Amino acid sequence: MPNMQKEKHPMPTRSPEERRSTFGEVALGYDEETAVSEAERCLNCRNPLCVKGCPVMIRIPDFIRKVSLRDFEGAYAIIHESSSLPAVCGRVCPQESQCEKTCVRGLKGESVAIGRLERFVADRHNAASSGQIEERTRISNGHKVAVVGSGPSGLTCAGDLNRLGYDVTIFEALHVAGGVLVYGIPEFRLPKEIVRKETDELIRNGVEIKTNTVIGKTMTVDELMEDGYEAVFIGSGAGLPRFMSIPGENLKGVYSANEYLTRVNLMKAYLPESDTPIRRAKRVAVVGGGNVAMDAARSALRMGAEEVSIVYRRGEAELPARKEEVEHAREEGIVFRLLTNPKEILGDEHGEVRAISCVEMELGEPDASGRRRPVEKKDSLFTLDVDTVIMAIGTSPNPLIKSTTEGLVTEKWGGIVADEDGRTSRPGVFAGGDAVTGAATVILAMGAGKKAAAAIDAYIKEKNAK
Ligand code: FAD
Ligand code: SF4
Repeated sequence: MPNMQKEKHPMPTRSPEERRSTFGEVALGYDEETAVSEAERCLNCRNPLCVKGCPVMIRIPDFIRKVSLRDFEGAYAIIHESSSLPAVCGRVCPQESQCEKTCVRGLKGESVAIGRLERFVADRHNAASSGQIEERTRISNGHKVAVVGSGPSGLTCAGDLNRLGYDVTIFEALHVAGGVLVYGIPEFRLPKEIVRKETDELIRNGVEIKTNTVIGKTMTVDELMEDGYEAVFIGSGAGLPRFMSIPGENLKGVYSANEYLTRVNLMKAYLPESDTPIRRAKRVAVVGGGNVAMDAARSALRMGAEEVSIVYRRGEAELPARKEEVEHAREEGIVFRLLTNPKEILGDEHGEVRAISCVEMELGEPDASGRRRPVEKKDSLFTLDVDTVIMAIGTSPNPLIKSTTEGLVTEKWGGIVADEDGRTSRPGVFAGGDAVTGAATVILAMGAGKKAAAAIDAYIKEKNAK
């Protein structure tokens, strides 16, 4: 008999008071008894709608059934068929708008906590195999493939091709592999150790990762092909920050969220012994309402700021960040200044940020995105005293690869044009993840890497059969 408890088991978390001053992980994970009891809430539906909601179609009821039977390794094996980064996805996937949104238990209560169960299974597997990453015996098929970027799309594409026997080299611009998983998403949401384990596993299995190598500068896509790589996958993400083009954005104390988070996460500014330069801000305004804005705000708080505000031009219902992250941010004391839009950043005589002037907004008619358009309220200008402003209003793909790869067609906004399977306008050049879609999600980037790996395999086989 299933457990008919209406609510999902809550996720144990650190207290908000403790969280404000530590980068330790906020969510602590289910223990075995809680996981089994949660798994027993699953009805094992004959037509499991949850699977349709999952972008990589994990066999959700099957893995959950294994959890209820305490066959945790069996559960891991099922998840791993479809997702190569389950410990990452269990933590950062927006399950509430994917698998859990369509779960039938959600009709008369709360959905099954699919994401929490995925995390439990992955963590348990990682703990059991700690330090002893299983090496596969791989027989090289003698064909070389280059992967540009080591984010979730690149790692997934490289892992799949490696399993098929290709000699894969990942070229990564930064000094550490992992993409946004290491430079963007903070330690308190995704411990970097988890990502390192995944990249170590790839290396052990024969994938080469060349860090500090910027494709388009150190060497071009064409040079890679001249070097014997038969195909190139571009998974270079969307790391170019957008700004608002308002006066004052060049003042000292204005960061893009990417720069701020990179300094805090990748450059470890949060560690007392770190010598990474970062502003010791007291009053911070973070402009934007997505996950990136929440991460920047919560990081600023942990870096010692006294007041951190989210400044967002729409309302609560329109906040694009995950609900759970908004709740966590609120619990920690982040101030939400909704229906508020910045007009100018004001500086002092030394060129340092001293305030941000904003207007109040109200919601008008829906715009092209279907969301109600924010409209400025008359005579509502006001000033907020801040010493730091972090812009988190979106990013786009960096134009470097486009500008150095002849014949590579891109959208006006910079996204690489690619078909469903990642084929671009250049034969042998494939692309996927944020570089194609613009800023999206980890699971979609992984899905794109997977599809491209299959297409690259088919392309090389066909080419060599001629
Ligand atoms: P990326 O992860 O961006 O990786 C691209 C890599 O390519 C980078 O390492 C970059 O250095 C490298 N690169 C770029 N150009 C070159 C070059 N010319 N040569 C060599 N290497 C290059 N998604 C979720 O699902 N859930 C979340 O909670 C979530 N939170 C987020 C929080 C933040 C702060 C950010 C920034 C994003 C978040 N996302 C989240 C989005 C998610 O992380 C991305 O959609 C995903 O990482 C995209 O993967 P990718 O492989 O396409 O690119
Ligand atoms: Fe279980 Fe919900 Fe999926 Fe049905 S829809 S199989 S109850 S997780």
